[in-house]
Amino acid sequence: MTRPRNHTFQAALIFLSFAQLTTALKCVCRLCENDTCETSADGACWNSVMLIDGKEETDKSCLSAEKKNQVYCYSSRNVSKRNCCFTDFCNNENLHLYQERPSEVPGWGRLELAAAILVPSCLLCVGAMLGVCVLQGPRCAYRRAHKQDAEEALDDHTLMTPDKCLKELIYDMSSSGSGSGLPLLVQRTIARTIVLQETIGKGRFGEVWRGKWRGEDVAVKIFSSRDERSWFREAEIYQTIMLRHENILGFIAADNKDNGSWTQLWLVSEYHEPGSLFDYLNRYTVSVQDMMLLALSVASGLAHLHMEIIGTQGKPAIAHRDIKSKNILVKKNGTAVIADLGLAVKHDSTTNTIDIPSNHRVGTKRYMAPEILDDAINMNSFESFKRADIYALGLVFWELSRRCSVRGIHEDFQLPYYDLVPSDPSVDDMRRVVCDQKQRPSIPNQWQSCEALRVMGKVMRECWYPSAAARLTALRVKKTVAQVNVMKDIKE
Ligand code: ADP
Ligand code: MG
Repeated sequence: MTRPRNHTFQAALIFLSFAQLTTALKCVCRLCENDTCETSADGACWNSVMLIDGKEETDKSCLSAEKKNQVYCYSSRNVSKRNCCFTDFCNNENLHLYQERPSEVPGWGRLELAAAILVPSCLLCVGAMLGVCVLQGPRCAYRRAHKQDAEEALDDHTLMTPDKCLKELIYDMSSSGSGSGLPLLVQRTIARTIVLQETIGKGRFGEVWRGKWRGEDVAVKIFSSRDERSWFREAEIYQTIMLRHENILGFIAADNKDNGSWTQLWLVSEYHEPGSLFDYLNRYTVSVQDMMLLALSVASGLAHLHMEIIGTQGKPAIAHRDIKSKNILVKKNGTAVIADLGLAVKHDSTTNTIDIPSNHRVGTKRYMAPEILDDAINMNSFESFKRADIYALGLVFWELSRRCSVRGIHEDFQLPYYDLVPSDPSVDDMRRVVCDQKQRPSIPNQWQSCEALRVMGKVMRECWYPSAAARLTALRVKKTVAQVNVMKDIKE
């Protein structure tokens, strides 16, 4: 590469690169016709290499201006390199993870030669030391992770043999460790080798993406740096000891990476292709069996969240505070998981306190319990938060039951109170309907002729009592739903 010799030349270069930034570029593209693509205005050429199953895999393409400003242009040392550049075909060179190409280092002096001999020798020594550590087992690697500079630690492969899939990794580490998730080093290593594919959702705090890790799909929730507290809180809740459950979204990793100008905050979780229950019910009707399986999953997830498990490997009771169909995900096997734990609170039963100062009205207005809407909730009692979750669970059951098709009869998809409040209701709108007029979603007459729907209707009513103390508990809902005789409805 030529080096600028004086200031005029430097200024010219800066001007030229600026001019390039604002126009379209031609780039090398691995999967395009003629191996070439053209960016939109202000785009970039993209060059990447990452380690997949122990082999380096390169990718080159065009990047839109939008993507350029996201996460694509940042590398993590030794596990993936992603470069963006801004001149025609600048992504032509092949990137490598482990060594710089000697041909790119012009005119080696003595110093460089000495380094070339010394560095590999030192690496060999370090390699030998790491080998000893590996033989001592994973705890050694974990200790090392906490001693080392996090960036340096990224090339740790001792915990991450290429043949391990995510489920195995999480199972191995969670069962051998504290029961609260993967070691931080491993979380970071996984997060930094994910390749983002497409956006799949948008919520309160930025975007959710589908990503690929070693060929497996994962979901990546990306927070903006001003929402760092929310990112930290959600990661913290997901890593509560013993939280893991088949009906709670499986957490994989949290990563915060400072790129010099801003911090990228990622939460990585299992990916569920069918998406949210809201999207699912909008698209499909469900059979009696489907409905009961989904209802049982949600009730089981909530019962696990609400339950305190006592003991050294115990878990605190947790209230979700934003139960709604958009925060429940449907799995391919027809069950569901509770997601979006960003607003959850934990109970410390020894001091009878809640772990964060709870600002009084959080969550989604449409799903707020009457005592939240009229400010009558007792913030000092943890039970209050669980009871508010149960009210919202009743509303989710109502959305689900409407889509249950019996002998071809079902309702269209609607959000609760769709017929009584505007599309983005205010607290006042909700209070008028739910507290003053004491209205609740209507339960269609035909539900009486189907055992499962009749039980679902009864459960909902018992979740919606104005008196929070009278409502069912999540465990009671779970048991009632589990006892429904689905076969009876199917025979009729
Ligand atoms: P927010 O806190 O911004 O509301 P959520 O965690 O609720 O974010 O995610 C927003 C949306 O993204 C969800 O409603 C769902 O459609 C989609 N989504 C989130 N996580 C996943 C996942 N693991 N698999 C599939 N879709 C997901
Ligand atoms: Mg959400």
